[in-house]
Amino acid sequence: MLPELHITTDACFLSNPYATDLFLDHFRQELFQSDRIRRVLEFYPSQNSMIADYLSTVLNLGRDYIFIANGAIEAIQAVMHNFAGQKTLINIPSFSSYYEFCKSSTRVLYYQLEKKNDFVLVPREYTRYVKEKKPDSIVLINPNNPDGGYIRYEDLHHIISSLREVQSIIIDESFIHFAFEDEQCNVKSAVDLVREFPNLIVIKSMSKDFGVAGIRAGYAVMNKNRVSSLLKNGYLWNSNGISEFFFKLYSKPEFHRKYDLVRKKYISEVQSFFRGLSDIREIKTYPSKANFALIELLDGSRSSDFVAKMLTAHGIYTRTCSDKKGLAGEFVRIAARTKAENEMILDAVKDVITGSDHAHPS
Ligand SMILES: *Cc1c(COP(=O)(O)O)cnc(C)c1O
Repeated sequence: MLPELHITTDACFLSNPYATDLFLDHFRQELFQSDRIRRVLEFYPSQNSMIADYLSTVLNLGRDYIFIANGAIEAIQAVMHNFAGQKTLINIPSFSSYYEFCKSSTRVLYYQLEKKNDFVLVPREYTRYVKEKKPDSIVLINPNNPDGGYIRYEDLHHIISSLREVQSIIIDESFIHFAFEDEQCNVKSAVDLVREFPNLIVIKSMSKDFGVAGIRAGYAVMNKNRVSSLLKNGYLWNSNGISEFFFKLYSKPEFHRKYDLVRKKYISEVQSFFRGLSDIREIKTYPSKANFALIELLDGSRSSDFVAKMLTAHGIYTRTCSDKKGLAGEFVRIAARTKAENEMILDAVKDVITGSDHAHPS
């Protein structure tokens, strides 16, 4: 019989645990210690464009550019079904929903991010490829999942400005709050560019950086006509009261300040976790600006064995990437959690990799 598995750390799920704590504090105080929870449960939530109003202040963008979604996944589905056109270009390795949720009439072309370039996108080569293949739509996930590869704002701006002929440029910024280009860890988002580029669509999940996957909150910003065509055709009450509460909270400067503190604290711990991984010689840690790292096993062991040992001997759940298109080899994705958990993960990785440990779960 298999011993009962006891997961102590979930390093598969990609969220900031400190942000969940922060939200939970507000949730308890503002919804539960008052009677507001009753109203949230009893009545309809606000309609899409009303919730967009809250976000409008955060994004500094008119609400008619904003489409609120039941998780980013709904925005992905809406965008891929309505604005992807006949031919779409998707980078691999990637987050699979972009090709899985295409309409059957859309032809998917793949652009392979090269292992020899550490899966980093080379802007000039990419735009040349797009001009040659002439897709109707292109998808860029920034930072990318599963490797955390980041396209700098300047490069992204260059890509967008040189591809005005592409019908839809779709950028997924679900991990952008973990990325940074300066010492202050300021967020550099492409959202501002939607006013200038009518073909640009920016999609964002709140699940990972705010640690609230359960409430299903996400959005997309795009040209006003596109937002109104989506809203004329559905998506009226696609949020729920708790997600509405979240967006309302997010629009408050005071919450924003607190969130920024936990965001920066987490980023600094994530970076130190990555340094710890890089010190392990038997694995290669790919450069990441997200909150997870893609590692490659260099000692000849199999990623499925590695993941199994991490789980059975240490109760730590990591993810093999053997199902990822465009990623052949022994790869594992490991997310950063709290500082204490990160230390446990590092010890466990060393243990499993050097094979010195034969511990059994107690
Ligand atoms: C997790 C993830 C999503 C989906 O987010 P939800 O808001 O939870 O639906 C979208 N895009 C990327 C790149 C993701 O990793």
